Amino acid sequence: MIRKFIRSVFKKSSRQDGSPRVFRLKSHGITADHLTPCALKVATTLQQAGFKAFVVGGAVRDLLLGREPKDFDVATDAEPEEVRNLFRRSRIIGRRFRIVHVMCGAETIEVSTFRAAAADNSEEGRHTDDSGRVLRDNVFGPQVEDAKRRDFTINALYYDPVSQEIWDYHDGVADLKAGVMRVIGDPARRYREDPVRMLRAVRLAAKLGLKLDDAAKKPIRELAPLLGQVPAARLFDEMIKLLFSGHAVQSVLQLRREGLHHGLLPMLDVILEQPLGERFIMLALEKTDQRIEEDKPVSPAFLFAALLWHEVLAAWQQIQDGGEKPAPALHLAMDQILSAQQEKLAIPHRYDAVMKEIWTMQPRFWQRGGQRPFRLLEHPRFRAAFDFLMMRCESGEVEAEVGRWWEAFQDAGESERGRMLIKDEAAPKKRRRRKPKAAAAAVAAPD
Ligand code: ATP
Ligand code: MG
Repeated sequence: MIRKFIRSVFKKSSRQDGSPRVFRLKSHGITADHLTPCALKVATTLQQAGFKAFVVGGAVRDLLLGREPKDFDVATDAEPEEVRNLFRRSRIIGRRFRIVHVMCGAETIEVSTFRAAAADNSEEGRHTDDSGRVLRDNVFGPQVEDAKRRDFTINALYYDPVSQEIWDYHDGVADLKAGVMRVIGDPARRYREDPVRMLRAVRLAAKLGLKLDDAAKKPIRELAPLLGQVPAARLFDEMIKLLFSGHAVQSVLQLRREGLHHGLLPMLDVILEQPLGERFIMLALEKTDQRIEEDKPVSPAFLFAALLWHEVLAAWQQIQDGGEKPAPALHLAMDQILSAQQEKLAIPHRYDAVMKEIWTMQPRFWQRGGQRPFRLLEHPRFRAAFDFLMMRCESGEVEAEVGRWWEAFQDAGESERGRMLIKDEAAPKKRRRRKPKAAAAAVAAPD
């Protein structure tokens, strides 16, 4: 009883000056060997050189939740050049935040210098735009301020691998236990400083199974349009994290509930409002989540091809209605949709080729006579295009029979395949006139 009283008094007094609550190993059980050797090396080397160094943010949070951290970030009072000088394989990167990447083997640890809390806009090194968005932020400061400028209480946790203590500046440990996500400071102001925090709120809540507290949720709807001011490349990075978090379905549903989906992708704007498009996109997201769960590789190009498909379909139809033939109309539609996306979300061009291949292969699934199905089967991108077709069937966009035919065709032996060939409805007239039997025989005969 007395101890409890003393603790509560101590708790209050210790928090007033902003000092952290310190959790020792006994209370959290996270030993230094929970870190990767690289993270451990970076933190201990910095400490041996006389600096403070902690593993910070998502990794500490994930370890406390019993999850395997995706990566390790280190925070220190050493300035970027001082960090750079301690590690042979390291380099300074970033403009908005100057940080150091330290490489060991295949691993990279991000080392950032403690930053001063956002204060006055005129301060040297920090610039904001008219809506309060921080454009550059390179003012270094004490650890307590570094904690204050982090986004959520559960992300302002610092783990010292030498003392094996967790320093908790904003009651993040208690919030984690209670399963809530709270913004540090005034949520509306923090979202104005950096609108991406709204996306992070939704993504992390979905990924970690936490509840976003009401204060954090409330301003989102009104401030959502601020996302329009975030550079497209940064939005793209954040969307990639969200779509490949293993919780894409939950995240996208939540984005929609919070009114955050506008302007991110046309999929979220328009397509979620049409039942066929929504079904198709949800299937694509479900399959992505499932593959991540099973540790299978996922392809951004495939997912983006799916997300944009109903846009491409609509444009394709429109161009054909204008009198264009199907094949050139599809190419025009693809280019139109891809360039519109470039502006909004900056889907890098490196994905274009694969997306286009998946799309242009779709009409070829209807050509099931002569040599064509065999040629399609040999296409290096057949598997992706076929999976795509199956999602179209499953969503009800096209007849399931086509998908079943291709499934059977892949499993069939050579002579069975020959028997399966059907008169090619989409084929040019010249081919159609050919006798089906002759075509089948020609295919069945080995070269
Ligand atoms: P993930 O599991 O996706 O890596 P994370 O929280 O670790 O989640 P990172 O982008 O790796 O996300 O960021 C590391 C830490 O940096 C965060 O935990 C948080 O403390 C801080 N941080 C990241 N982005 C922001 C932001 N936009 N505003 C404030 N703090 C941020
Ligand atoms: Mg992280």
